[in-house]
Amino acid sequence: MTPDLRGGGPVPVSDWDRAVGLISSADEIALACHISPDGDALGSMLALGLALRAAGKRVTASFGERRFRVPRLLRFLPGQELLAEPGDYPAVPELMITFDVPIVDRLGMLAGNALKARELIVVDHHPSNTGFGTLNLVDPAAAATAVLAEELLRRLGLPLDRAIATCLYAGLVTDTGSFRHSSTTSGVHLMAARLVATGLNPEEIARELWDRSPFGYLRVLGVVLDRVTLEPEVGEGLVWTFVTRADRVAYGLPYDEVEGIIDVIRRTDEADTAVILKEDDDGAWQVSTRSKGAVDVSRVATALGGGGHTKAAGFTSHLPVEQTMASLRALL
Ligand code: 5GP
Ligand code: MN
Repeated sequence: MTPDLRGGGPVPVSDWDRAVGLISSADEIALACHISPDGDALGSMLALGLALRAAGKRVTASFGERRFRVPRLLRFLPGQELLAEPGDYPAVPELMITFDVPIVDRLGMLAGNALKARELIVVDHHPSNTGFGTLNLVDPAAAATAVLAEELLRRLGLPLDRAIATCLYAGLVTDTGSFRHSSTTSGVHLMAARLVATGLNPEEIARELWDRSPFGYLRVLGVVLDRVTLEPEVGEGLVWTFVTRADRVAYGLPYDEVEGIIDVIRRTDEADTAVILKEDDDGAWQVSTRSKGAVDVSRVATALGGGGHTKAAGFTSHLPVEQTMASLRALL
């Protein structure tokens, strides 16, 4: 079997060439990733930002949240100095590039800037990507947007350094679940080897992403696990729980600290599908769904106004927990 050396298969060479042309001829480039950024979204954006700045471009990078705040666990990523609040973002960018954004809504406050941009390059790996760019570098077979970001850097002739590689590595390990998900190909490991070769520290990155939290996290985890429910008769088995704003406030825990709890819930043998509803600071419920493969959770999440991948998807709900769960059960 020939290993797939890169994930950039289905993107036509002519599209890569157009992207290289647009980026090379621009002096100022505006970068954006999706709201509530994860390691892949922010890491891919900052990697490009660092490389383009080193190449002499003026770079603005942002994501469209009113309460602009980098999640605590991503603050170790190099390139934070490139970030600007969405209010300081170019209103009509000459060239804008989005990372890990499947649909224009996921740009939040920056959606309007993207629609007005003279050229909009969309770099993404979601199968549900709507192709909202003037140029779409979208490959659903890529394990992470970071895979496409690395390919773009290579085609631009921009070298990896340790800082850039750290950002890309954060994206790669986030979206492959530390090389555990089915997306972990030989190509993914070869990319990891190129990144590690720059001298980055995999231990430090793993600790920052997954192995540390404030003490209050343990208390909130206790509360959330105490109310976890198993419903073996729903679909292929459902395990679910929820975390309220009040749960977090009681232990001084910001919203992004509870993002990882789904990884505890989804280990349940008796359920194919795992769900957690997380109340954010605005009182909306951010719902994360995971499947072991029997159920396509992207279908369920899409039906409820969100989206995602077959085994990991999400949506936002403004209804009470029980009502959201009733809709979910009906779809499962
Ligand atoms: P998470 O549960 O980790 O927040 O998200 C898992 C996946 O679901 C993400 O990779 C993303 O593709 C998708 N996702 C999560 N929330 C939303 C949402 O509100 N809208 C859409 N379109 N996709 C979402
Ligand atoms: Mn991603």
